[in-house]
Parts: sequence; structure tokens; C-alpha cells
Amino acid sequence: MRFEIVTIFPEFFAGFLENGVLRRALAEGLVEVGVHDLRASTHDRHRTVDDRPFGGGEGMVLKPEPLAEALGSLGIGLKAEGREAGTRVILLSAQGRRFNQAMAREMARLERVVFICGRYEGVDERINELYCDMELSIGDYVLSGGELAAAVVVDAAMRLVPGVLGNEASSEFESFGVADAEIETDVEGVPRSQHGAGGLLDYPHYTRPAEFGGLRTPEVLLNGDHREIRRWRREQQLRKTLANRPDLLEGAALSKEDRKLLEAIREEPV
Ligand code: SAM
Repeated sequence: MRFEIVTIFPEFFAGFLENGVLRRALAEGLVEVGVHDLRASTHDRHRTVDDRPFGGGEGMVLKPEPLAEALGSLGIGLKAEGREAGTRVILLSAQGRRFNQAMAREMARLERVVFICGRYEGVDERINELYCDMELSIGDYVLSGGELAAAVVVDAAMRLVPGVLGNEASSEFESFGVADAEIETDVEGVPRSQHGAGGLLDYPHYTRPAEFGGLRTPEVLLNGDHREIRRWRREQQLRKTLANRPDLLEGAALSKEDRKLLEAIREEPV
């Protein structure tokens, strides 16, 4: 899996590439990241990448020619000429489709993803029309550049590439994860203490000491009964989602038992 990032601030990615899970994945050759300086695709003395907007208005716009040349040097041609299977070209933009975990899962199955980082007022729209397979936003707010957005998307996708997380299960049992039924059990018949999110938020986690700041870890987590722990965790997933992201409940994979539990939680006195 290879990510290519086209940017006017290649140095932005130095720290990002040198830490944590991504650094290990790069070292083990599980993922590759190429950072490409857009100014290397300019030919004037000032290495100009931007110009004033047609029609007037504030700010500057990233010019199309350097971007087209940068993409060409990566072997990326016009969209109309067809794209290699497994390759996508993505324009980071506040006007894009909103990124989510399902998209990260899809992306982790691709071979090559090329990101274009906008700056100023954005990128000349013809680059989007001619080269980009998708406009992608990381949320409903405006950043000053696409670099932070590219880093967010690369981080979310690369950790789902098989082998990147030491323990595969840690990407299965987490917020927005798949439903329990889609997760294989290790040992036939042995109950798992974890519960697949099925589109809900994760349950709360605790570690030693069992008591901290006057708060005790819920007793159920200390008693070793996997069935009970699983049930408690599911309830917590439902509670958290209802409290913080009720919008997720609509698309979530909920069992009959989940629905009953939700109803009971909703009816609790506040
Ligand atoms: N004029 C643009 C608009 O109103 O939609 C905002 C441009 S923004 C200041 C500069 C660049 O930051 C964009 O071209 C894009 O690459 C990036 N950007 C800003 N917000 C983003 C977001 N929510 N998601 C992804 N990229 C974003």
C-alpha cells in the first residue's frame, strides 16, 4: 500500500512519518509514503504555485499546471483515460464527502492513493474535474491546508492495512468497527469478552490501579466472567453512543436485545 502526497509544505510530514504505528509500518515495508514538493514541478524563477482567482475575491488559488505536472511525474494521467485498478486520486477539500471509518477500511484495500493538498482558497477546479476520483473532507470546518487532512486520512487508513497493528483484533474492536457477527472467534465455543461495535462507539477502558481518584473500576471487569463483561461492554457502547453520537444509532447493527436495552436506557430518569 503506497500513499503519495502532493504538497507545497513537504516538511510538514517529517514528524508524522517518524512516530508511532506509521514509523513501524514504514520500517517493516507494510506501507510506503511518498511526499512530493509541488514546487519541484514549477519552471519559473520564483517557483510559483498560485495565482489570483478569476472573477475577483480574496486570496490565491493553486495553479493547475504544476499540479498536472506533479501528477504526471507520479504516472497519474487524466481520469477520462482510465485509472489503474487499485489506484485513487483524492483532493482534500472542505467541499468533499466526509471521511469516515468505512472509507478508511475501503482505502486500506487499495494499492495506491494519491492526495492533493490544497492551500489558500483551494485548487483550480479543473484539477478536480480532470484528475481526481474523489473530493474528501475530514470534517465540517475549514483548515488552512490539506496537509493535516492528508495526515489524518493516511493515519486512519494505514493502521487498517493487514499486519500494521501488532494485534489484528485492536482494529476490530473499536469505535465504528464492524458488527460482532463479522468478527471471527479464535477458539470455538469460548466466549469473547469484547464486543464488535457494529457502527457504535467503543466501550470505556480501564487499567490498574483498580481504584483511582475515588473511582473504582466497574466490578464486572474484575471478576473474569467473559459473558458478563461482554454484556456490560455492549451496554456501555449503547450508552456512550446515545449520549454522544445518537445519529450513529440509525445505521448501527443492533440486535433485538440491543434495542430493548436502548429503550430501557432511554426511559431511565435523568
Ligand atoms: N475556499 C475553501 C472552502 O471554503 O471550501 C477553503 C480552502 S482551505 C483555506 C485550503 C485547503 O485546506 C483546501 O484546499 C483543502 O485542501 C484544505 N482543507 C480545508 N478544510 C478541509 C477539510 N475540512 N477537509 C479536508 N481538507 C481541507
